[in-house]
Amino acid sequence: MNKQLTQLLAIIMLSSLLLTACSKQAEDETKVTEVLLQGKTMGTTYHVKVVATEKAVKEKQLQAQIDDLLKNINQQMSTYIPDSELSRFNAQQSTEPVEISDELREVIAESLRIGELSGGKLDITVGPLVNLWGFGPEYRPEKVPSDKQLIETKARTGLDKLVLEGNLLSKKIPELYVDLSTTAKGYGVDKVAELVEKNGFNNYLVEIGGEMRLKGFKHTGELWHVAIEKPVNGERAIYQIIVPKDNAVATSGDYRNYFEENGQRFSHIIDPDTGKPINHKLVSVTVIHPSSMTADGLSTTLMVMGPEKGLAFAQAHNIAALFIVKTEHGFVQENTVKFVQYLK
Ligand code: ADP
Ligand code: MG
Repeated sequence: MNKQLTQLLAIIMLSSLLLTACSKQAEDETKVTEVLLQGKTMGTTYHVKVVATEKAVKEKQLQAQIDDLLKNINQQMSTYIPDSELSRFNAQQSTEPVEISDELREVIAESLRIGELSGGKLDITVGPLVNLWGFGPEYRPEKVPSDKQLIETKARTGLDKLVLEGNLLSKKIPELYVDLSTTAKGYGVDKVAELVEKNGFNNYLVEIGGEMRLKGFKHTGELWHVAIEKPVNGERAIYQIIVPKDNAVATSGDYRNYFEENGQRFSHIIDPDTGKPINHKLVSVTVIHPSSMTADGLSTTLMVMGPEKGLAFAQAHNIAALFIVKTEHGFVQENTVKFVQYLK
């Protein structure tokens, strides 16, 4: 959805290190490979790996279908496209309900559900605060705002100011601004995954800007592996390998997107209660869930909550989550009971 997302792409990288020699033969016989389709969307990149023959993928014109689908989603949900459905809602000054598309409704409804579940920690109306701190579509001041600015801006946010009833969406104040950066990428992943399946492919990996969803097996017959990167700036090392099976994987991490002032780091994730960027020792959260949209939203939610509250919340709600926390003694990994099954 935004330019910063590009930098987050590398949070997770695919592990294709584990190919075995014996599968090579099978591959030659059937000529099934991992066909890679890729492109740009939502201010970032996408990659789709389909286990099939090149011929089958071409015949279905899968690349064109994916590009069309993503273009449509962007035209609905991007805050970077001035005439997108969401941008038009944001720009409108009226507080009268407007009828929105089913797609936009689905993403807003899920975002509001997680928002409510988390006591407002996931808040799709924080846009003005994101911009104030310099991480949104507006310019990037790289400067700490004043208390006055903070109070004024915070007054323009809040989930209580957005009402969704069926497909009718309304705002309680004209200047309310909805930002779906935390769930729209995941939604895109889900829709691409459904499209790939509709075309008859049942072994695939779909990834947009680091959010991914997998199904079935690689062309080698192995399960898909995902490597979680070591959370250090300027370094690319594998931290933990996971086997998510037929699920989505989302990682939220603040270590690639921040600015510094007087030695303090300011993340692009805002705690809606303080109106300020999060400031704690949690460096990344990975969530596994059947829905990429839900995983995407939950990973950001847990990131906002921080190491203790996030872990307690994930345990209480039976969320498969892995936390990487920075301590004096280096990085410490913590995970919920539900995540154990995915650890390699
Ligand atoms: P991450 O991969 O770190 O989770 P995302 O791109 O998914 O990052 O989400 C971060 C973006 O979400 C920010 O750039 C901002 O636009 C928006 N955002 C920041 N704080 C919140 C919040 N508390 N609730 C919802 N959206 C937020
Ligand atoms: Mg996220």
